[in-house]
Amino acid sequence: MDSLELFVRDKLEHLEAQSLKRTLAETDRFAAALTRRDGKVMISFCCNDYLNLSHDRRVIDAANEATQRYGAGSGASRLVTGNHPLYKTLETKLAAHKETEAAVVFGSGYLTNVGVIPTLIGPDDLIVADELCHACLFAGSQISHAKLVIFRHNDLDHCAELLEEHRAQHPRCLILTDGVFSMDGDLAPVVELAELAEMHDAWLMTDDAHGLGVVAGGKGSSFVTGQKARVPLQMGTLSKAIGVYGGYLCASQAVVDFIKTRARSFIYTTGLPPGAVASSIAALDLIATDAELVAKPMAKARLFTRALNLPDPESCIVPLIMGDADSALAASQTLAEQGFLVTAIRPPTVPENTARLRFTFTAEHRNEDILRLVEAVRPFHRGDKDAA
Ligand SMILES: *Cc1c(COP(=O)(O)O)cnc(C)c1O
Repeated sequence: MDSLELFVRDKLEHLEAQSLKRTLAETDRFAAALTRRDGKVMISFCCNDYLNLSHDRRVIDAANEATQRYGAGSGASRLVTGNHPLYKTLETKLAAHKETEAAVVFGSGYLTNVGVIPTLIGPDDLIVADELCHACLFAGSQISHAKLVIFRHNDLDHCAELLEEHRAQHPRCLILTDGVFSMDGDLAPVVELAELAEMHDAWLMTDDAHGLGVVAGGKGSSFVTGQKARVPLQMGTLSKAIGVYGGYLCASQAVVDFIKTRARSFIYTTGLPPGAVASSIAALDLIATDAELVAKPMAKARLFTRALNLPDPESCIVPLIMGDADSALAASQTLAEQGFLVTAIRPPTVPENTARLRFTFTAEHRNEDILRLVEAVRPFHRGDKDAA
């Protein structure tokens, strides 16, 4: 066997022994959070399609119409010929929704973070990041070669301490946080972070992947106090509540103009298919106008947490910490046998010994199904500490 084969087979064996090997399961998704896996129909509580818009007729029709009119693919980078007319509409609507001057759409949320961060921040600069930031914020930080210091999760004092210690040695500084933390479902103290950032002449960038369409009436994590927090860089994804695919940054006009000129993951990649942009526009219109729909995922999550005596959720993501990877996998398997699809999240996605079941609630989940899920989950739930 050659060295490549030996290398990967050894790695795989090692991962398998620790229950950390990841495999793909073929999954058919339908409306109302139904899925089919291995021939079995299950109710999914692990999808980020919080408003079920990926299966909304109006959103699908928008994709179909744009595909008929503009074609299946965009044909080139946006700076070459891939900038079909739908982009302008989507970017204008995103900026209006987030109350910023401008917005720029990328190929995905991941591409947004690995593009924006190194465009604004370089090797001499400083990045101060929450320890539970999403992997792609750390990927963008690494690409920037800036000095990266990490504060304890949501710990403002620790963040301030690090700024006092390091800020003066660097010309520019970026503070990074998720607005809604993807594996814990809690909110960042965005208003206080914005104040800290201003005090230290640092730039705050929030990742609102799980906020848009769900928290603060769908406007996202910068609006949870009822007023717009001063966040100069708000990024997010079109793949979660929007239900489609793509990423975006909302910022000032000058920042957006600069990003469009310099971000490598914007320049050297093909524009999104027209159908993806058109359907994102339709979904965003629904989020901006249908308050009743937007309120549903949080209400569904609350039904679950209250029935289990857990703290009220801050988003529609609810974790149940199991500890080791084997227990999380076994619990997930037991729930699957009862018709509930809930994935086990294991390290390195989450810290060691915090393997968990991660439940996400969506607008179309039926209350009676949530209450059945509650009964199925009870045996794994050993008290409120599990939710911490
Ligand atoms: C999903 C996610 C991303 C990546 O977005 P994609 O559009 O799926 O690439 C970025 N940040 C957070 C917090 C996420 O949950």
